[in-house]
Amino acid sequence: MTIDPTVTSDPWEPAALRARLDEAGQRAGDAGLDALLVTPGPDLRYLCGYDALPLERLTCLVVRVPGDPALVVPRLEAPAAAASPAGVTGLDVVTWDETTDPYALVASLLTDARRVAVDNHMWAEKVLRLRAAMPGVEQRLAGDVLHQQRMRKSPAEIQALRVAGAAIDRVHERMGQWLRAGRTEREVAAEIAEAIRAEGHATVDFVIVGSGPNGASPHHEVADRVIEPGDPVVVDIGGTTRAGYCSDSTRMYAVGDPPADFLAHYDVLQRAQAAAVGHVRPGVTCASVDAAARQVIADAGHGDRFLHRTGHGIGLETHEDPYIVAGNDLELMPGMAFSVEPGIYLPGRHGARIEDIVVCTSDGVEPLNRTTHDLVVLPA
Ligand code: ZN
Ligand code: ZN
Repeated sequence: MTIDPTVTSDPWEPAALRARLDEAGQRAGDAGLDALLVTPGPDLRYLCGYDALPLERLTCLVVRVPGDPALVVPRLEAPAAAASPAGVTGLDVVTWDETTDPYALVASLLTDARRVAVDNHMWAEKVLRLRAAMPGVEQRLAGDVLHQQRMRKSPAEIQALRVAGAAIDRVHERMGQWLRAGRTEREVAAEIAEAIRAEGHATVDFVIVGSGPNGASPHHEVADRVIEPGDPVVVDIGGTTRAGYCSDSTRMYAVGDPPADFLAHYDVLQRAQAAAVGHVRPGVTCASVDAAARQVIADAGHGDRFLHRTGHGIGLETHEDPYIVAGNDLELMPGMAFSVEPGIYLPGRHGARIEDIVVCTSDGVEPLNRTTHDLVVLPA
């Protein structure tokens, strides 16, 4: 793990949050918006550090352009908001009581607004009530503004992703403790989940243990299938650290000696994954990173067996922009963090995937997952 001592390890310090709010306001203004309206979810946490519960009562950050941002919260949630990093940013907190109409309250903060943007995950109920409270005000999606900003991680955010990557690597390194023939995928997954927490995550986001033919389904999670000697096993795991940043790493295991055709496929996959990671640098497109992996697999005659995109951005969400997929001509910029995870899937037989989180640096790439890419053969 690379640690730059000049970089703060806290993505939630007040100065960083104020800078994020300022930048969001700037971007909103550039996009012709009069305000961003952001309810509980990753956009809210990103902008002000408040990891609010998504409740029926309205909590809404109002980023006014121009003007100071305000955080509208139900009075009973005000202590939680104050205790979060938002409480020390100097953000104006506006509370509402049980008999107040919070939508009218938000509208009263935006009397001159003509065009606002709501966060992409806002509940439909809240979108429509805001629309009713502000008739004639055009609503757009805030993601068009905020996701551009969130895609480029600050040094402190990258450090938080390094910590998450190292935590999930420690779980992979312990796989031999749990994974063996005669156990079910579900039994193995339960112990992996415990280790994900023990190694430094606050939550377990997913545990995929795809043994033998189950590995051929990329979104298989776990089943009661008993792992057999010779099975290749896809283990794709991730969680969220207390700081809020996500991990996601896939490694391949075999319980005893795997079939010879699997080893041939695995060799192709390893070369494809390395080719895509090696292609990452500023200025290349997301689509070209996808193509770098896909070309190796297609050249080996397995093009139709790589049936998903090569990767997804990661940060406060496991899946966020940028998506590493054909047709995405977005150019990589330093600070973008995303997965590189090609796979080869043979229905009814087995599957394989190798996944690292990587960061685009000023001149290349920094992988955040460092465990071996070789097939890890465990005793049956
Ligand atoms: Zn994954
Ligand atoms: Zn992933």
